[in-house]
Amino acid sequence: MSTSWDPSLTTPELLTLTRLLGEPARDLAVLAEGNTSQRLDDGRLVVKASGANLGSATAEDFVVVDVDEVMAIVDDPAATQDDLTAVLVAAGATRPDGGPRRGSIETVVHAAVQQVAALLGTGPDVARYIGHTHPTDVVGLLASVRAAEAWERIVYSDEAVVVGRPLFVPYATPGIDLGRIYASGLRQHAERHGALPQLVLLANHGIVAIAPTTAGVEAVSTMAVKGARVRATAYAVGGLAPLTDEQVTKFFARDDIDERRTNLALGR
Ligand SMILES: [Zn+2]
Repeated sequence: MSTSWDPSLTTPELLTLTRLLGEPARDLAVLAEGNTSQRLDDGRLVVKASGANLGSATAEDFVVVDVDEVMAIVDDPAATQDDLTAVLVAAGATRPDGGPRRGSIETVVHAAVQQVAALLGTGPDVARYIGHTHPTDVVGLLASVRAAEAWERIVYSDEAVVVGRPLFVPYATPGIDLGRIYASGLRQHAERHGALPQLVLLANHGIVAIAPTTAGVEAVSTMAVKGARVRATAYAVGGLAPLTDEQVTKFFARDDIDERRTNLALGR
């Protein structure tokens, strides 16, 4: 199926999450930065359209894309940015200003997660909601000389509970270039850990929060910002002293921590 425009498929849950991530006080995104998505039961993806602001988004500001169609472009070495842009246009749908209704070029950031979720066979609900934002505190660290190493280790226990093991993706131009390096990073993470990450850090760019519920996306996004502030403070006073692998493994092995992680992801 091709990209289409059907505001009746934009759920109140997705709309609430989108506006919440766009609240100025959260400092996750300004202007038309960032995008959100929800996976439908039929596998298609409702994703924010290009140019819409998170904070004031309406049901009309989303398009419905076919994950396989988008990822076929990303996975085709001969495909270009123009091919990707073309596939994201909702045929026959125009905005009030006469322009086309088109999925964000960052739709690839959402579609690649669904492709890997399908490969893992972990069930459709693991990644039902995705929020991609550009939080100032996180982008600051991801634009620093510490970017690649900052999240290599967990630095405090509640971060381990909410975020788990994040994935770091080196910088690439947003669009098809980012889509390729990001999809490859997700696949490697899935092979290594047998699961999708809940937080992806995009160098010099932003974050991707992946969760079964909107509350999970909010929690991961909020904790990513807190984790960035904690790291910046630690670097400022001489450097990070992260938790050891042994400490993290011991912590994750506790039954109560497993339960807390599940509850957080489900928004309970
Ligand atoms: Zn972005």
